[in-house]
Amino acid sequence: KTYLRDKPHMNVGTIGHVDHGKTTLTAAITKILSSEKKADFKKYEEIDHSPEEKRRGITINAACVEYQTDKRHYGHVDCPGHADFIKNMITGAAQMDGCILVVAATDGTMPQTREHLLLAKQIGIKRIVVFVNKVDAADKEMLELVEMEVRELLSEFGFDGDNAPVICGSALNALNGENPELGENRVKELLDAVDTYIEEPVRDLDKPFYLPIESVYSIPGRGTVAGGKLERGRIKKSTECEIVGYDKRIKSIITGVEMFRQILDEAQAGDQIGCLLRGTKKDELRRGMIIAKPGEIKLVNKIEAQIYLLGKDEGGRQKPLTDYFQGHIFCRTWNCSGFLEAPGREMVMPGEDTKVTFTLLKKMALELGERFTVRDGKQTIGYGVVTNI
Ligand code: GDP
Ligand code: MG
Repeated sequence: KTYLRDKPHMNVGTIGHVDHGKTTLTAAITKILSSEKKADFKKYEEIDHSPEEKRRGITINAACVEYQTDKRHYGHVDCPGHADFIKNMITGAAQMDGCILVVAATDGTMPQTREHLLLAKQIGIKRIVVFVNKVDAADKEMLELVEMEVRELLSEFGFDGDNAPVICGSALNALNGENPELGENRVKELLDAVDTYIEEPVRDLDKPFYLPIESVYSIPGRGTVAGGKLERGRIKKSTECEIVGYDKRIKSIITGVEMFRQILDEAQAGDQIGCLLRGTKKDELRRGMIIAKPGEIKLVNKIEAQIYLLGKDEGGRQKPLTDYFQGHIFCRTWNCSGFLEAPGREMVMPGEDTKVTFTLLKKMALELGERFTVRDGKQTIGYGVVTNI
């Protein structure tokens, strides 16, 4: 089957604190749209395989579901909530053009709500629609308080907290087909807000193609497929490519391109695609590598950057970082450890912009102006932008 490009494609997804209802909402959206033949209903367990994958030791796999409204075709990423939650979230979110922030009315904004907003900002998301969930279980006063709190938090991170649509409802009611006033109707309202408030980004269609790998899998009898969001350019089948990152450069040929299991004659920037790669083994590839036009990508392991270290009240560190701090940087879909140095200073203080250099343990595809987050163990401690390579 060939993908019919009859409306704009956009990538959205759910972000927010664990257990606030992201997966329930994702399932509810597909259920409601499936009755109008605009989606296939995906059950909760089909979207989040957490317990099962945890048992198998798989910690990474953001689920991507597909649906349509009258205006657009959407790929929707829902990140599983276990083990490497933030890692999932960062790579999942790297594919989003806009997102739905889910906040449970019973809890209000929580540490991960904050962390996700920071990450959303870092990956360049401009507009966020809010779904205040679990309204069936919260009282009215709480609801008003939570809405105020969310708007304030959005503004704190540079989003338009005053004008962002905030829809209050119950994803669980919507999924179970109960209480349409809080369920189905509110989810429809949410979809309208996503359609109108989240703008279509300008796509770089005419630059050389650039695809950060998000997932790698093999299809028996056909070969290795690398999936992700095409950031720039266009890809047709039988295109020569180079797969780069983690010190490696691998030559290959893209023999086919698919979007949601439908064949694409030409993938365009913004599409969530899978590329069939000739002669490339699954084990050679890894998430975070980039598929690009041969010779286009420079690999670097030393960069200069401007970073901002989060203060304690922003969920960051209490103590400054000392020179030669070893941490992780997360960029697009990759993460890599490295050493941070702050030339001319002994420390990097929380709450301040600082010029630093990063020496990465592997050579990665990094570009001027690229944004990244800095992590220390399990904590996001700051963010930055590449100023020199
Ligand atoms: P996630 O971690 O953000 O993906 O959250 P889940 O979708 O897994 O939901 C977490 C829990 O909250 C589950 O037990 C859901 O059944 C429950 N839940 C989700 N939405 C609602 C809702 O609208 N009302 C109530 N009362 N519970 C909900
Ligand atoms: Mg979930």
